Amino acid sequence: MTDIPRVDLGGKVAFVTGAGSGIGRAAAIAFAMAGAAVTAADISEKGLRETVAEIEGRGGRVLAVICDVTKSSDVKAALDQTVDKFGRLDIAFNNAGIEQPAQPIAELSEDVWDKTIAVNLKSVFICMKHEIEIMLRQGGGSIVNTASGAGVLAIRGQSSYCASKFGVVAVSKVAALEYANKNIRVNAICPGIIDTPMIARYTGDTDEGRARVIAQEPIGRMGRPEEIAGTVLWLCSDAGAFVTGHAMVVDGGQTAGI
Ligand code: NAD
Repeated sequence: MTDIPRVDLGGKVAFVTGAGSGIGRAAAIAFAMAGAAVTAADISEKGLRETVAEIEGRGGRVLAVICDVTKSSDVKAALDQTVDKFGRLDIAFNNAGIEQPAQPIAELSEDVWDKTIAVNLKSVFICMKHEIEIMLRQGGGSIVNTASGAGVLAIRGQSSYCASKFGVVAVSKVAALEYANKNIRVNAICPGIIDTPMIARYTGDTDEGRARVIAQEPIGRMGRPEEIAGTVLWLCSDAGAFVTGHAMVVDGGQTAGI
């Protein structure tokens, strides 16, 4: 029997987008605590400062980069800085995203549609395009893209969000097929309702709003960002070495009935 792998990312380098809040912050901390050097990328300077303080306070290595994931030049520059500082790129967690206001299609503006698709979906293509280029030169890597329960389940009032997240699942699977024989694994993660600032905005942060989304969760509570981070860590580590092209739900049973 071979050794059972554990999650040890010592010597690895991870790039995380949307690292200034919620799920991205929890993942950046988790990668750093597993021994990886981490680039934390976000548009929010304040968010990044807080993430850096959390990681450095625990003794981790982190580089913060202001980066708008809808801009190819920003993403390329952030990845170049990562390789300049840490020497390589082993792991990418393409996670930055925005919510859409709950609105049926006839009321949804084209601007909201375009923005949601740009931030949630086009960004994943842009990030992967630059990351894969580096990983091909290096001989491998692991990528996880953040989709959603809304990437496998249609939700009323969420056309642009669902379209973006179904798209993330699709492009992750295509990338997995294209690069499986180059030692690059690509997976998507589909979180359920997770207690982050995004969900606070979506629910209005009221007891009633929270109860409404918790009602979608068979497990009877929201997930915690750390519960997504743990799965992402596993997917990116050698423990997940045979997993590619998978859209993994981590959702308290939200989609179990479909
Ligand atoms: P969050 O709002 O707490 O964090 C999102 C982060 O992304 C923020 O720091 C924000 O500044 C950053 N960001 C937004 N636009 C950006 C851009 N153009 N460039 C770079 N950074 C940008 O949200 P979260 O809940 O942590 O969400 C993270 C991801 O998880 C998103 O893709 C979201 O769609 C997805 N998701 C969240 C939930 C949930 O219930 N919270 C469920 C399923 C999927």
